[in-house]
Amino acid sequence: MKEIDPWGNALVDYQKLFTQFGLQTLSPAMKKRFSSHRGFRRDIVFAHRGLESFIKTADDGKPVAVMTGIKPSNSFHLGSKLTAEELILLQKEFNAKAFYGIADLEAYADNGLPLEQSHEIAIDNVADLLALGLHEKNAFIYKQSRNAEVMRLAQLFAKRTTTATLEALYGKQNLGLYFSVLTQAGDILFPMLEENGGARAVVVPVGADQDPHIRLTRDLAAKFAAEKGFEPPSATYHKFFRALDGTTKMSKRDPQNILSLNDSEKEVKKKVSNALTGGRDTTEEQRKKGGQPEKCVVYELMQFHFYDDDKDLKDMKEDCTSGRLLCGECKLQRIAHINEYLKKHQEKKKAKLAKAEKIIETVSNPRS
Ligand code: SF4
Repeated sequence: MKEIDPWGNALVDYQKLFTQFGLQTLSPAMKKRFSSHRGFRRDIVFAHRGLESFIKTADDGKPVAVMTGIKPSNSFHLGSKLTAEELILLQKEFNAKAFYGIADLEAYADNGLPLEQSHEIAIDNVADLLALGLHEKNAFIYKQSRNAEVMRLAQLFAKRTTTATLEALYGKQNLGLYFSVLTQAGDILFPMLEENGGARAVVVPVGADQDPHIRLTRDLAAKFAAEKGFEPPSATYHKFFRALDGTTKMSKRDPQNILSLNDSEKEVKKKVSNALTGGRDTTEEQRKKGGQPEKCVVYELMQFHFYDDDKDLKDMKEDCTSGRLLCGECKLQRIAHINEYLKKHQEKKKAKLAKAEKIIETVSNPRS
């Protein structure tokens, strides 16, 4: 019986991750250190594994790396944006080499997406990553299907992993998905290979539902420590953003209920206008009692993704809970803000597309 489904839409019980699976809370010193990012200030990035040892290694001046990736099955949505922002923050804070794996094999195994199709999506995704601020000179971006060393690691790990272990972590899945998780373990441990800089400390920013991958990889690192010199990777965990209708976590499988960084003004208007709010049944009631931002997906949108300034968020909350602002007007204000953000982002991205294409076309193997 699987515990958490990395491929599903179900919301995760965060408390269980602490009590049952041993996640650690972020210390005040960690929160302070990363407070330039709203995710760390607002408990959106809420947990870690082994982050203190990563920080110590980095502060001792030893080489460190930050690793994450994307399944190129669709355009960058807000979850991908949050992960990319964490990657960029950690790259900058520790002068860490950033490794970004394009999980095209998983897109094939999980979504049946042919590699030629995911290749085009990968270019678009990498342009988003560059536009968000990745320092590409201190980064290595690659596609799984073209990275022979990651594939060799996956093969090696397969020799010492039983289907019973995988079934306990992921439930009954086809062999393609099982192999894709071993490939992800290869992605995470790949930066530790001597020829890639041998950074023994690697941190992986992930969504909470990716924890089974982290646990599997930490076990594999321990199994192959003597042979390969691996250390268990560290990880930071962020919470999920709900789908716009508030029913499940946001997922690319449900395009009408996600916001993508490619969305047009019209699409944003339509999607946000239809999003779940914490509004009351009648105008009178809302004027009297105020709205309920804790139930509202529009509030979450701004909290998680679009208001960097804490004062903007505080003002939004006060306008809502005081009943001064009703949901219709509130949505119009947020739609304008989101569209302004996306317009700027899309301009920056356009300027990065040629570079993204070059990166994806030329990364045929790790040392090319
Ligand atoms: Fe949400 Fe705004 Fe309505 Fe409050 S007023 S419930 S924040 S949409």
